[in-house]
Amino acid sequence: MPNERVGFVGLGIMGEPMAGNLLKAGFSLTVWNRTPSKADALVAEGAALASNPAAVAAASDIVISCVSDSPDVEAVALGTDGILEGARAGTIYIDCSTISPAVARTIAERFRAKGVGMLDAPISGGDIGAKAGTLAIMVGGDVADFERCTPVLEAMGKTIVHVGPSGSGQVVKLCNQIAGGLNLMAMAEAITLCRSAGVDAARMLEVVSSGAAGSWMLTNLGPRAVNRDYAPGFMVDLMQKDLRLVLEAAEELQTPLPGSALVQQVFRVLQARGRGGDGTQAIVDALSLLGPGNQS
Ligand code: NAP
Repeated sequence: MPNERVGFVGLGIMGEPMAGNLLKAGFSLTVWNRTPSKADALVAEGAALASNPAAVAAASDIVISCVSDSPDVEAVALGTDGILEGARAGTIYIDCSTISPAVARTIAERFRAKGVGMLDAPISGGDIGAKAGTLAIMVGGDVADFERCTPVLEAMGKTIVHVGPSGSGQVVKLCNQIAGGLNLMAMAEAITLCRSAGVDAARMLEVVSSGAAGSWMLTNLGPRAVNRDYAPGFMVDLMQKDLRLVLEAAEELQTPLPGSALVQQVFRVLQARGRGGDGTQAIVDALSLLGPGNQS
C-alpha cells in the first residue's frame, strides 16, 4: 500500500479516470469537484469526499489538480478555500491541467513561499490514455519533488519525463498540441479527399494508419471521425484554449508557427456553429463546411 496520501481536484473527462487509477494503485484518496455528482463513482470505490480544495490539501501529502484553463487553476490553487490554504510545508502540489507556462511559474512561486513544492505536469493521451493509465506526462519543477512524486505519476501514466524547471512541462505540452493539432488537420484532409473521391475512408485509415503517415490521431480519432461520432474525448473549446496558449507563446517569443494559426482558424468554424463541445475529430466537419456544396 503506497504511503503518500493523495488528493485530487477536478474530476472531468481526464481527472475522474486518473483519480480512479490512483485508487486502483492503492493510494488513499481524497477528492473534490465543483459539480459534486462527478465524485459519486470514486466515492463508491473508496475515495473520501472533501468540501473544498483546501480540505483536499489538508488531508493529503500530494495534491493533484486537473481543471480547464489558467484562471481555473488560479481559482482552485490560490483562491478562497484553495489548495494553498490547506497545504503545509512538505506538501507537493501537481497541476496536470494545460495552462500558460508563465502562470504555472507564478503559481509555483506562491507555493514555494509556503514551503510547498509544485510540479507542472500536463498530460497527453486523451480520455483513452487516462482510463488505461498510459498517459504521457511532461513534468516541470524541482528534480527532488519529481522523484518523490514518481510513484503517483506512474499510477496514471506510462511515459513520464522531467523536462526542466517550473513551466517547462507546460512548454512541452504546447509542443505536443502543435503536433496534435496539425495531425488532426492532416487526418481531416485525408478523410475529406477520400470522401470527395468516393473511396471508403475506413479502408483508407486501415492502411494509412500503419504506414509512415500513421499517427495517434489517425489511429484513435480517425475511426470516430469517419463514423461521424463527435462525442468528446477532447473538446474543440479546450483545443482552442491550447492553440491560444501556443500562439500567445509564439507572439511572446517572436516565433513563426503558421500551421498552428491555420488549425486554430479551422476549429473556429466549428465554434462559430456552436460546436465547441464536440470532440476534436469534428475538424473533419469544419472542412466539409468550408468545402463545395457545404456538405455537412
Ligand atoms: P473537462 O471534462 O471539461 O473537465 C474540467 C474539470 O475542471 C471539471 O472537473 C470542472 O468542474 C473543473 N473546473 C473547470 N473550471 C473550474 C473552476 N473554475 N473551478 C473549479 N473547477 C473547475 O476537461 P478535461 O478534458 O478533463 O480537461 C482537463 C484538463 O486536461 C484541461 O486543461 C485540458 O486541456 C487537459 N487535457 C485534456 C485532454 C483530453 O483528451 N480531454 C488531454 C490532455 C490534456 P465541473 O465538473 O464542475 O465542470
